[in-house]
Amino acid sequence: MQLINDAHCHFFSSQFFGTLARQRLGTSVVPSAEVAASASDICRELQWEDPGTASALADRWIAELDMHHLHRAVLIASVPGDAASVAEAVARHPQRFVGFFMVDPAAADAVSRTTRALDDLHLRGICLFPAMHHMSLGDERVTRIVELAAARPGVVVFVHCGVLSVGVRPKLGLPSRFDMRLGNPLDLSKLALAFPDVPFIVPHFGGGMLREALMAVDVCRNIHLDTSSSNRWIQFTPALTLEAVFRSALEIAGASRLLFGSDSSFFPRGWQKGIYETQKQIVDRLGVSAADAARIFGGNFEQMFPA
Ligand SMILES: [Zn+2]
Repeated sequence: MQLINDAHCHFFSSQFFGTLARQRLGTSVVPSAEVAASASDICRELQWEDPGTASALADRWIAELDMHHLHRAVLIASVPGDAASVAEAVARHPQRFVGFFMVDPAAADAVSRTTRALDDLHLRGICLFPAMHHMSLGDERVTRIVELAAARPGVVVFVHCGVLSVGVRPKLGLPSRFDMRLGNPLDLSKLALAFPDVPFIVPHFGGGMLREALMAVDVCRNIHLDTSSSNRWIQFTPALTLEAVFRSALEIAGASRLLFGSDSSFFPRGWQKGIYETQKQIVDRLGVSAADAARIFGGNFEQMFPA
């Protein structure tokens, strides 16, 4: 049976819900009991499982991976300041999880937090969301963060580009004041060329900026694409299909720079098997060789994150 590794899952920890709760309460100085109560309310409202401790959620994820015969997964700490939750999950199951964490380069302590997450918490992917954090990829503060990856072989930089929607925010009535202009993959090319030994991952094939993502991939051999999510952005290009997206990506990036991802996040929905099945069918239909398919769905992950 084929080895499947998922390069894009979100770890929606109690801390994650606590951050949303604090945003909804409208202030960062709220008694922690009140934040916890509000975080529980949020889970109830969404009809999502309350994650409990990071260890409990890590075990929930392992049961899910086992049920679907997945080998390993990237878990993303999906709000700044939540690296410790993912680190706890990785420390508990180091053979199965690779930890990524979100950084806001504008934060005064961004460099020290990132250093700690890499050196003390042993996380392996730095996630940048330029549109969310209103921070151009050309900003010197971003360079400072990428330098930390460059000094640590094995660390990758994940850069969200294109359409950004965080589904949970509108559901909770939270605003999403994102500046989409800042998520252009072309802006990544300069950074990727300046740090040729740092692997970069652009999720969702560039999230609507496929052409720009492929242009960047074409000039930067260290930019990889992840295939994750429903890729709903294809609706912004008339007549585009996911099959055509895969065909172009295979032509330009090649199978060795495509990483399968599902963008799974909350429970009880759990791992989004349908996304895997759809993508597997497309890859089969395109006549991709078994060796290349194995790279996309597992091998490239192993190479990037040796266990
Ligand atoms: Zn995602």
